Amino acid sequence: MKKTVKGVICAVMLLITVILSACSGMKPETASFEAMDTLMSLTVYGGEVSSQLKSEINKLDSLLDATDEDSEIYRINRDKSAEISSDTDRLIGKALALCGRLDGYFDITVYPAVLEWGFTTGKYDIPDKAALKKLAEKIDYSRVEHSEGHVTVPDGTMIDLGAVAKGYAAERCLEILRDSKATAAVLNLGGTIALYGEKPDKTPFKVGIADPENPAGYFGYLSCGEGIISTSGGYERYFERDGKRYIHILDPKTAEPADNGILSVTVISDDGTAADALSTALFVMGLDKALDHYKNGFKSDGRDFIILTDSGELYVTEGIYDDFTLAEGYDYKVIKV
Ligand code: AMP
Ligand code: MG
Repeated sequence: MKKTVKGVICAVMLLITVILSACSGMKPETASFEAMDTLMSLTVYGGEVSSQLKSEINKLDSLLDATDEDSEIYRINRDKSAEISSDTDRLIGKALALCGRLDGYFDITVYPAVLEWGFTTGKYDIPDKAALKKLAEKIDYSRVEHSEGHVTVPDGTMIDLGAVAKGYAAERCLEILRDSKATAAVLNLGGTIALYGEKPDKTPFKVGIADPENPAGYFGYLSCGEGIISTSGGYERYFERDGKRYIHILDPKTAEPADNGILSVTVISDDGTAADALSTALFVMGLDKALDHYKNGFKSDGRDFIILTDSGELYVTEGIYDDFTLAEGYDYKVIKV
């Protein structure tokens, strides 16, 4: 079954945007379509590859969507053992390695909890304490047995690649662009942006980062070159009960929505799967652990982030600090990490 997308499309589409105005003079090839439960838009300069990019994204969507009965992930979750094709194989391998490096805050076996909370259907429910305990016990990526072309999971374990599918798609699209005649491209995959090449006027791309409290606006802009930018925010999918907001990003240790004062996390990397996994994981681990994580490894991997907290503090890593500009009207305290 497909997730309901109405109502979230606009917000996600505006999650981050890229200003390409300075590319004038050269007419780009453009495409907009719905995939991976969001609206995507592709802008490509100097090459005719947007239909190839679109087919690649649609192919990955049909392989990876855990709610689609024809997908490979659905098959793994239903049959507990399945042959998988090369893309699913590559992504599961990368995702499991990231689970191992992210201290359990990113875990691809979170799916039973995602289902129970109703995030795939929109039929939301708050599980009671006993149910949450049972759900948390089911989450453990180390139970996934992965050997080339094959995955086996025990009863009760289910996989969800929703936190990395767009990042991986962005990564595959950059590979296709590198093999093409395109000179520049901006791919907005809804929450994940892939930037390729160099704009005709040689200036950097300018990426707007959505204000989680008003996703139609941007709290700041980042100048950047080729790479992948992934944002995770509770505002992408959530429900409210008795004045409390429950978001779709879950803490695998408790099976409950993350609730630690972080409003959004944006990660910049040349590895799309890593950027996407990290934006989810940093969101879950909270500010202090995210800062520790940066100092102990993340930084040396050449990855950067922007974290916005509910107290109006904006933590920007030193690698991109000079490339970030706060938008007019925002008085966030910008802290260099
Ligand atoms: P993202 O928007 O990239 O942060 O991914 C969020 C999606 O990933 C959710 O809608 C769930 O399907 C799944 N998910 C939620 N929490 C986690 C987690 N802690 N680790 C891995 N996947 C998660
Ligand atoms: Mg993610």
